Amino acid sequence: MDKINTKLEILADAAKYDASCASGGAGARKAKEGGKGLGSLTGGSGICHSFTPDGRCVSLLKILMTNYCMYDCHYCINRISSNVQRARFTVDEVVNLTLNFYKRNYIEGLFLSSGIIRSPDYTMEQMVLIAKSLRLDHDFAGYIHLKTIPNASAELQKQAGLYADRLSINVEMPTPASLAKFAPEKNLNDITGTMDHLKDSIAESRAEKKAPKFAPAGQSTQMIVGADPTPDTDILKTSVKLYDDYKLRRVYYSAFSPIPDASPVLPLKPAPLVREHRLYQADWLLRFYGFSYDDIAQGAKDGMLSLDHDPKVAWALQNRHVFPVDVNRASKDMLLRVPGLGIKTVARILHLRRQHSIRWADLAKMRLPLSKLKAFITLSDYRPVMGLLDGVNLAATLKNTQQLELFSGRT
Ligand code: SF4
Repeated sequence: MDKINTKLEILADAAKYDASCASGGAGARKAKEGGKGLGSLTGGSGICHSFTPDGRCVSLLKILMTNYCMYDCHYCINRISSNVQRARFTVDEVVNLTLNFYKRNYIEGLFLSSGIIRSPDYTMEQMVLIAKSLRLDHDFAGYIHLKTIPNASAELQKQAGLYADRLSINVEMPTPASLAKFAPEKNLNDITGTMDHLKDSIAESRAEKKAPKFAPAGQSTQMIVGADPTPDTDILKTSVKLYDDYKLRRVYYSAFSPIPDASPVLPLKPAPLVREHRLYQADWLLRFYGFSYDDIAQGAKDGMLSLDHDPKVAWALQNRHVFPVDVNRASKDMLLRVPGLGIKTVARILHLRRQHSIRWADLAKMRLPLSKLKAFITLSDYRPVMGLLDGVNLAATLKNTQQLELFSGRT
């Protein structure tokens, strides 16, 4: 294997721990000869998917510039005290690799992160050079997501935003105390200070049409779940604050999984992947379904979201008195609270009921999960049988066994 491919294998593998791309490790296209050419990402690692501002799903080359790092974050495989094989790309190597894959249609963009070498500013400068060279020297029109290096200067962050579509900086741990314990060189105020600068620059660029574009796909962050004892409700409280204060586009949740050569302060067991999934579901309800933090917390027990029920079902079980909901008359907000009805379905229902009264057969035609819905709705030809909604068995029948089975490999 030549030098570049060796580096690619190490630095694509090191990047897989970052959840900020929706599906790291998805299969890459193989080069023709046995998948061994430059375009082949060994084992399918190195390609992730992300979403552009217009909702398009794009494939990105997901790599670190280097996995050397002068910091010692306990949860990170690249920390200075970790005994892993190290590698470093030059600026030109990342530029050429990106262009090469892009021209072959293997990728539509680049997701670039890095360990910190020499200083935060030096590292950020190198990353900015990569993005700048792609844009200015090679007219690269693909998507670029750059990880902002904590403690890098505001000027460098500003430059990064001129060339990247999305910027992100990871808060990593959900509370300042956990961050101090697990990432002693990082400071939550520095991280949120960077988010604040980025928020202002993004807002300025959007408000002023003639201003140069600045990170048009916004900023995002990631939190590790289960490396420390912070309960789900506190994790979500942090997310709500991040969305409100810094206008983040996404908070990503990454279930802790033990890393090779792990620090002794870390748990030995992985966090259940279904826990990560529940946090994403709750996050979705908060952002798109009109749920408040208190609504979500109400369905949690001792601060933890139910692993058996998705957060909407958990809320409905706690609030049976507001059901059943009349599908032909209820407000959009109330329909969005019904377990089994999603945003698109509710839009279809609102459209359909303007034409005629909705019946059971209409919902069946829409292929909705009727067994989930049946306790919570009324229709012109349907009412739940007496006792169904208040029955002691309702919670058991709504257990999301399929989801648990799906994730059983990791729990
Ligand atoms: S700064 Fe980033 S790369 Fe370095 S140890 Fe911490 S998390 Fe890992």
